[in-house]
Amino acid sequence: MRELPVSAVRDAVRRLFLDINRKIGPDVEAAMRSALEKEISPAARYALTQLTDNYAAAEETGLPLCQDTGMAICFLTVGQDVHFTGGDLNEAVQQGVREAYEEGYFRKSIVEDPLFERKNTGDNCPAVLHLSMEPGESVRLMGIAKGFGSENMSRIFMLPPAAGEEGVLNAIVIAVREAGPNPCPPIVVGVGIGGDFEIAPLLAKRATARPLGVHHPDPRYAALEQTALDRINRTGIGAAGIGGLTTALWVSAEYAPTHIAGMPVAVCICCHASRHGEIAI
Ligand code: SF4
Repeated sequence: MRELPVSAVRDAVRRLFLDINRKIGPDVEAAMRSALEKEISPAARYALTQLTDNYAAAEETGLPLCQDTGMAICFLTVGQDVHFTGGDLNEAVQQGVREAYEEGYFRKSIVEDPLFERKNTGDNCPAVLHLSMEPGESVRLMGIAKGFGSENMSRIFMLPPAAGEEGVLNAIVIAVREAGPNPCPPIVVGVGIGGDFEIAPLLAKRATARPLGVHHPDPRYAALEQTALDRINRTGIGAAGIGGLTTALWVSAEYAPTHIAGMPVAVCICCHASRHGEIAI
């Protein structure tokens, strides 16, 4: 049995959210640079140049990549032979987020009551915590700082199984078309297929954090990702919504078993400030 103080989790969460809000991942940056290289529209080239310059400026100055520093989403995968000591695990995660957003002068974006008062909690908490278990003694943390310009454009479609592959592709393109310029394109699209009304969006959210350029290991899903990417990029929405060749940098799909009567499809849209990271604790 491995003993792990919850303060180690707190510190890891703090470090991760400070890092991902200030430095874009190399995969996202490479995809953006490749989009710039092949772009022919002067307006889209200008937009893509601004975005790549913004990545460099954030890294150089330590300022956040975007004014919307997001809702903090934590996926914590815990080995079943780990015993947390020294306090409350959930509170340690919240404290890590609290400290990161305070230390980085990141915008606090969470309101306590979503409908009536909408009073800011003042510390970007509560963060969303998804806890899952696996055999062994490892503890892995994956964090996403999710801006809501793009989160608001995410969709779920409860399709019948007969909708098939074409139905899934249509759902993806409908979500992207209806989003238009709102999610700050070029976007990263996560697709969750299967599960139920709650699992599909979780798969889609996790899919947005898969490294860009890495297709699903199942060739059928890899082909679906590529076809969806091609169709999205034919919409012509383009960088910042002003036209051009690249509306999406990447599409990642994940799937889970589902009921014989259904085929949920969730489309999670993430903006060009696709901020995520993973560390072992
Ligand atoms: S959608 Fe992304 S890039 Fe646009 S404002 Fe929100 S966090 Fe920033």
